[in-house]
Amino acid sequence: SIGGNVKVVVRVRAFLPREIERGAECLVEMDPVTNRTTLKPPNGYDPANVRAHSRKVIENKSFTFDKSFWSHNPADPRYATQEDIYDCLGEEFLDHNFEGYHTCIFAYGQTGSGKSYTMMGTPENPGLIPRTCEDLFQRIAVASQESPNVTYHVRVSYFEVYNEHVRDLLVPVVPGQPPYYLKIRESPTEGPYVKDLTEVPVRSLDEILRYMRMGDANRTTASTKMNDTSSRSHAVFTIMLKQIHHDLETDETTERSSRIRLVDLAGSERAKATEATGQRLREGSNINKSLTTLGRVIAALADPKRSRHGHRDKVVPYRDSILTWLLKDSLGGNSKTAMIACISPSDYEETLSTLRYADQAKRIRTRAVVNQRENI
Ligand code: ADP
Ligand code: MG
Repeated sequence: SIGGNVKVVVRVRAFLPREIERGAECLVEMDPVTNRTTLKPPNGYDPANVRAHSRKVIENKSFTFDKSFWSHNPADPRYATQEDIYDCLGEEFLDHNFEGYHTCIFAYGQTGSGKSYTMMGTPENPGLIPRTCEDLFQRIAVASQESPNVTYHVRVSYFEVYNEHVRDLLVPVVPGQPPYYLKIRESPTEGPYVKDLTEVPVRSLDEILRYMRMGDANRTTASTKMNDTSSRSHAVFTIMLKQIHHDLETDETTERSSRIRLVDLAGSERAKATEATGQRLREGSNINKSLTTLGRVIAALADPKRSRHGHRDKVVPYRDSILTWLLKDSLGGNSKTAMIACISPSDYEETLSTLRYADQAKRIRTRAVVNQRENI
């Protein structure tokens, strides 16, 4: 078992047309050598609007991460492309999967900060998920040529947590029919899982990408004032990789199984910021339930020995929300885990909250083991 810290990286995106229109200023600076990210208060930031006890929020704030990705202006030589993100993070995590470790990469940040761009990307600029799929099948093709006594089996699933319900994204929504929700079960060996979730075997890159697009199209989206196409759901794309090695000399068979989880979280902003009402507000508060619980889980894991009374291990509240229950292993157990904190260039308060969240996640340690069975 290898104990390791959650890898935490931050990425700042370019201005959107609406930000250019209002003459937004970039409040984020990054030092690519020290990986330090600094957030400056906006020009004319009015301390009168800030409650007295939090006056100190108006100063520069600096944080150091495993990596600070500058994706603000493409002309800058430091500009981090989708390929750079994959080379720096995706590739290393796929190495771990072939070694037999479970991994999880999740994107956190306010709506419009670049989570889906980073995870999914666009057809011209594919993100981490399609790049991981491509590299996976490339490696399998090469390895199958080199060692014919190893066989590879890949399966995929895709679900979303929306309004504290789990929905299978590989099952199309039937118009006029109510959506059907899946239940969570917990197995003593595998931990929490989604009961009856579709898990399809895939044999090629084309096939897995087809499921990825199908699931994406099924994702629940609703427009809010902040971003018309923003997603209000947490999407979890999972690839299961099984490597079966048959030793021709000893006639022994070894099986390595690893799980690759790629998570695009719902927007971290508070419901009030969207001025949503009614149904939307209820959705917002339930989405926040998963996110606020995620915050409490991260806080408990970051300082495991500190409890309110100082003498008992903090109970980690995984089961208080659907998302944290399902991600239990990825957050505090058998997994190598990374968080990509996505930030907008000119939103002081939301960005500060995201950077603090990410800063805390750095202290989490997981214990990943190689998932291997011999003589099967
Ligand atoms: P989120 O999923 O966090 O709500 P998106 O990924 O949808 O945010 O990004 C919001 C907008 O910003 C989209 O139009 C997206 O294409 C664009 N965008 C985000 N990150 C980048 C980036 N690094 N480079 C170019 N465009 C980006
Ligand atoms: Mg999104």
